[in-house]
Amino acid sequence: MIEAKGLTPRQFLDKVLEPDKESDHICWNCEFLKPVIKGSSFPPADIIGWCMKIHWPYYWCVADFNVVKKCYAFKQKG
Ligand code: SF4
Repeated sequence: MIEAKGLTPRQFLDKVLEPDKESDHICWNCEFLKPVIKGSSFPPADIIGWCMKIHWPYYWCVADFNVVKKCYAFKQKG
């Protein structure tokens, strides 16, 4: 059981929704990444998640192989 006391809603979600991948993307620390969750079989294998900002109101697939190191829209997770 995950202890929720003292965590912000965002920190709690990060603990509960464990990402499927690890990489050097700056997106992992960004407010706008919606990661592929561990055990999920639906999304293509070559993405780490979706960016909810760059092509708003649509989601942009963040590719596993094309590592984002800098981004004009980056916003630190709160
Ligand atoms: S805004 Fe930039 S850093 Fe944030 S998830 Fe989208 S692509 Fe990644």
